[in-house]
Amino acid sequence: MQITDNSKQFLKALQDSDLALLSSVPKSDLHNHAPLGSRLSDFEKTIGQKILPPPLSLKDIAEMDNYIIHNLREHIVSLKGLETSLRLAFKHAKQDGIQKLEMSVDCLFVNLFTDKEIGFVKLLKQIHQDEAPEILYYPEIGLSRNLKISDIESCIYPCIESGYFKSIDLYGDELAKDSKNYIPIYKSAKSHHLKLKSHAGEFGNAESVRYTVETLELDEVQHGIAASNSPNVMKWLRNNNIRLNICPTSNVVLCRVQNLQSHPARILADYGINITINSDDIMIFNQSVSEEYLNLFQAQLFSANELNTIRENGIK
Ligand SMILES: [Zn+2]
Repeated sequence: MQITDNSKQFLKALQDSDLALLSSVPKSDLHNHAPLGSRLSDFEKTIGQKILPPPLSLKDIAEMDNYIIHNLREHIVSLKGLETSLRLAFKHAKQDGIQKLEMSVDCLFVNLFTDKEIGFVKLLKQIHQDEAPEILYYPEIGLSRNLKISDIESCIYPCIESGYFKSIDLYGDELAKDSKNYIPIYKSAKSHHLKLKSHAGEFGNAESVRYTVETLELDEVQHGIAASNSPNVMKWLRNNNIRLNICPTSNVVLCRVQNLQSHPARILADYGINITINSDDIMIFNQSVSEEYLNLFQAQLFSANELNTIRENGIK
């Protein structure tokens, strides 16, 4: 097997705990929510205002949403705030050596624009070009289970039909609404050739992962870590080649996993499931993808070679 220069550097960076070198090696981030895709400290500097830091531990999505609503929302949900946070997210991805980026933006942001999805898409294109044209950016449109579907419909369909977005992701409180409610939206996304993703198995159980994949005909799952409790579901995911885009620090902070040493990514990988390592919400969890790799190596969850294989699979 030929070892590429990138692989050599990645292995060396892990062994030497060299974050700068690690950041220079191409990586993917396939589970990243854009307005929260940069460091809180960079965001504070840019807006010239201090923001209360997030709690180090959150008991559920409601607690996380509560923090966002009371501390970040006013700075992000405006045209200026959206632009600022998107620019910082691309900058951060570039600094972290992200070569392939599937970063989601919530469809409700369409409502900030007088020309709706046209202005929204134009802004995303512009910011990608300005900040990080070298990144292979696959725009992802997001929707939340927390909201009324009737409020989402007027935003999500025009985004799907715009032809700009390459994937779709459903997030929010996993237990809030049955996946069946989203079948029409996902059918439309499929017919427009978007990659189909959804959060599942973060707060739900192993069976909920299979249920969500089957109901929405998913290509990939965001998190999906609860699948590790069921050999049957893991075999099923492997046999159907369903990738899990995992965010280790997010899982620890949201108390889904006790620590990185016991993260189920190990079990999932041992079952032959294709997994990737991602950031989720950098403004909340404060870890870049490079740091996530280093953390997993230092926690001895994976060897450097195993992490390199995960890295390579992500950018394929
Ligand atoms: Zn997420």
